[in-house]
Amino acid sequence: MAENPSPHSSIDNSAFDVIVIGSGIGGLVSATQLAAKGAKVLVLESYLIPGGSAGYFDSHGYRFDVGASMIFGFGSQGSTNLLTRALEAVNVSLETIPDPVQIHYHLPNGLDLKVDRIYEKFLENLTAYFPDEKRGIRCFYDKCWQVFNCLNSMELLSLEEPRYLLRMFFQHPLACLGLVKYLPQNVGDVVKRYIKDPLLLKFIDMECYCWSVVPAAMTPMINAGMVFSDRHYGGVNYPKGGVGQIAQKLVEGLEKVGGKIEYQARVSRILRDKGRAVGVKLADGRVYYGKRIVSNATRWDTFEKLLPPEEMPIAEKKWQQRYQKSPSFLSLHMGVKANVLPEGTECHHILLEEWEKMAEPEGTIFVSIPTLLDPDLAPGGYHIIHSFTPHWIHDWQGLSPREYENKKEEAARGIIERLEKIFPGLDGGLNYLEVGTPKTHRRFLGRVDGTYGPIPRYKLRGLLGMPFNRTGIPGLYCVGDSTFPGQGLNAVAFSGFACAHRIAVDLGL
Ligand SMILES: Cc1cc2nc3c(=O)[nH]c(=O)nc-3n(C[C@H](O)[C@H](O)[C@H](O)COP(=O)(O)OP(=O)(O)OC[C@H]3O[C@@H](n4cnc5c(N)ncnc54)[C@H](O)[C@@H]3O)c2cc1C
Repeated sequence: MAENPSPHSSIDNSAFDVIVIGSGIGGLVSATQLAAKGAKVLVLESYLIPGGSAGYFDSHGYRFDVGASMIFGFGSQGSTNLLTRALEAVNVSLETIPDPVQIHYHLPNGLDLKVDRIYEKFLENLTAYFPDEKRGIRCFYDKCWQVFNCLNSMELLSLEEPRYLLRMFFQHPLACLGLVKYLPQNVGDVVKRYIKDPLLLKFIDMECYCWSVVPAAMTPMINAGMVFSDRHYGGVNYPKGGVGQIAQKLVEGLEKVGGKIEYQARVSRILRDKGRAVGVKLADGRVYYGKRIVSNATRWDTFEKLLPPEEMPIAEKKWQQRYQKSPSFLSLHMGVKANVLPEGTECHHILLEEWEKMAEPEGTIFVSIPTLLDPDLAPGGYHIIHSFTPHWIHDWQGLSPREYENKKEEAARGIIERLEKIFPGLDGGLNYLEVGTPKTHRRFLGRVDGTYGPIPRYKLRGLLGMPFNRTGIPGLYCVGDSTFPGQGLNAVAFSGFACAHRIAVDLGL
C-alpha cells in the first residue's frame, strides 16, 4: 500500500483532509462545505466535466442536460433550499428561471392535468377530476405539508451527529417529533387513510413513481413531503445556462475557497491501512492520501469495485438485501423545430397510456423541454426535448454493433410515435437526435448498470433503512443518492451537507 504519488502530479499530496471520489452534486456539496470550513479538499472525477447525472453535453448548437432538468432546492426562503445554500456557502450564485407548472400529466382515463406552482390551483385542477374526493385530496396533501414544514423549520445537517440532534430537539421539539412519526411511513400508508377512489390512488402512484421510480406503497413519506410541498413553496426553478451550471458553479466556489478538483482522474481502489480508509489509487497509478475518504460513487460501485467485494461490511450486505438497483433509462435527446410545440406547452411532461405499464420498461415516458424556460440552450427557432423511459441494461447486452444500433433506432421510433400524441408533427420537425441506452448511462455517468439509484426490494419502513454517510469502513463515508434521503438533486445536496457536517465534527473543524 505504500505507493507513491506520481512525480508528475501538480498536486501537493502531503496532507489532504478529505478526498472526494466523484463530482456529482452530492460530492460537490460535501467538498464545498468542507473546503469552506477550512479543510484541504481534493475531488477526483473520472469524467471530463463535473456534475455526473446533473451534467450536460453540447452538440450541433444544442446544450442538453444529461439527466436532471426538474430542479428543486433553488428557493429563497426556509431551510430546504439546499442548492441555493450550497452555492452561497462558497460565494457563488446562479440565475434561475421559475417554472409555472411542475408537470403536465397525460395519463390513462383521460386524466390530463397540470401541477400548478400555486398549491390551491393544483388542488383545484385535481379536484375537478375527483369532486367526491375533495376533502381527502386536501387532507393528504396537507399531511405532506406537515412533513415539509417540519423539515423546513430546521437546519438540515447530519442525523449521525448526536449534539446536533439534541440541539434540534430543544429548538424544534414539535418538528422533530413530527419527523420521527413520518420517518418509518410510506405514502401508500398515509394516502389510503384519506382517499378511496382507485383511479385517484393510481394518480398518487404516478405522483410518486415519476421521481421515486416506485409506487406510493414503497415511497417514503419524508421524500414525498419534500417534493409535493416544495414544488409550491420554493418551486421548481431552472438554472440559466442549463443544469450543468450548478456543478460548474460549485467547482468555481470550491476553488475559490482553496479546494482542488482533477478531471479524468478515475479512482480504481480505496486504499486501507489496518482496515481504515487512508487514500485512493487512480487507474493511471497515482496515489493520494487523505484523513477522510468520501465516495460519491454508488454503494455498489464503492463496495464491489473500489473495495474487495469479498470484504464487504455486514451492514452493506444487509443494505443490498433491502435495496436493489432501479432500471436505467433509454434517453432521446432531440433538437426540434419550434413549431412542433403547441402554444402553451409546459416544460415537463409525463406520458402513460396504460396504468398497468407504469413501472415497466418503456411504460412511462418522461419529457423535459428546458428551452421553454431558457431559449439560449438551442439555436433560434429550435427547442430541445429530452425524453427518457426506464430500461434495463441486460436488454442491451450481448448484441452485435448492428443489432445494438437497430434496437436503438426501433426503440427511438416507438417513443417518438407515442410522443406525437402530445407534439403532433414531432417526427417531421426533428433536426437532431441522440439516443442513449443504459450502457451510455453506465459509461458517461459512471454508475453501475446505468442505474437511476437504489429502490426498495420490498415494502420497507419509510426511510429508516437508508444509510447515512458513515460506513462500516473507518475513515470512509458515502455521499449521494445511495445515502439518506435518496435520489434527486436537492436530496443529494442534503446528503452532501450531512456528510460534510459529520466529517467536520470528526476532524474537529
Ligand atoms: C435521466 C435522469 C433524469 C433525472 N431527472 C431528475 C430531475 O428532473 N430532478 C432531479 O432532482 N433529479 C433527477 N435525476 C436524478 C439526479 O440527477 C441524481 O439523483 C443525482 O444527480 C445524483 O447525484 P450524486 O451526487 O449521487 O452523484 P452522480 O450524479 O451519480 O455523480 C457521481 C460522480 O462520480 C463520478 N465517479 C463515479 N465513480 C468514480 C470513480 N471511481 N472515480 C472518479 N469519479 C467517479 C462520476 O463520473 C460522476 O460524475 C435524474 C437522473 C437521470 C439519470
